[in-house]
Amino acid sequence: MTGNLDRPDPDDLERPVVDLSPPGGAPSKVKGGEPDGGRGGSGLSGILPGIVQGLATTARTMTRHTHTAEYPDVRPQLPPRSRGVIALLDENCTSCMLCARECPDWCIYIDSHKEELPPTTEGGRARQRNVLDRFAIDYSLCMYCGICVEVCPFDALFWSPEFEYAELDIHDLLHEKPRLSQWMATVPAPPALDPGSADPAEVTAAAKPARPARPVRGERAPGPGRPSRPPRADPQQTPPVPPADGDV
Ligand code: SF4
Ligand code: SF4
Repeated sequence: MTGNLDRPDPDDLERPVVDLSPPGGAPSKVKGGEPDGGRGGSGLSGILPGIVQGLATTARTMTRHTHTAEYPDVRPQLPPRSRGVIALLDENCTSCMLCARECPDWCIYIDSHKEELPPTTEGGRARQRNVLDRFAIDYSLCMYCGICVEVCPFDALFWSPEFEYAELDIHDLLHEKPRLSQWMATVPAPPALDPGSADPAEVTAAAKPARPARPVRGERAPGPGRPSRPPRADPQQTPPVPPADGDV
């Protein structure tokens, strides 16, 4: 059993009476706040102003420039510095993990191992370097804040305006190193420097002549060095007697 048996039918309730008469004019009360008394029909005089107003709005907007882009038939002209996707230049990546540590969403995954390099000089020390095995970004978590691009000290991450990487499955939005490297081709060139500005530090450093290799301990550095002195004359030794005139 429901408890609605005693409630009155809403259709039986009388609609509120609204006074639409002008101030000081004759009273004109209609039912339900509608000019026709809520009967549902109306005269042509009630419809015409609405139709005219609608047609006027249509005519006004027809002459305006439309902002609708017919994508994918027409690709949008995005600003060159748009944040579409993050591209990786893996040759520059040293697996320092700075970007992964700073990412607020923890959506960067890096795996690497150490490799030993032979010493560059005889008797020198062997060196180690990180080899990047995996670099992935989960774009279902990324919020495009750009912190990873900003903090990378080795210029390995760049913004690309590429945006067509939608997937049907959210798990497929985890993109690995090969895909991130492919997007490097879409990264625009950096804007030109202001006229008269100094060269970037990288260009200045690359233009410097290479430093000579450090000598092995105990060995003298090759090179011109100081000119050698002539041997000193021995003061004990008698000076050679010049030949007398007539001697042959
Ligand atoms: S853009 Fe922001 S959220 Fe996305 S990977 Fe980089 S640091 Fe993380
Ligand atoms: S901060 Fe740059 S160099 Fe370091 S792991 Fe990230 S991408 Fe590689």
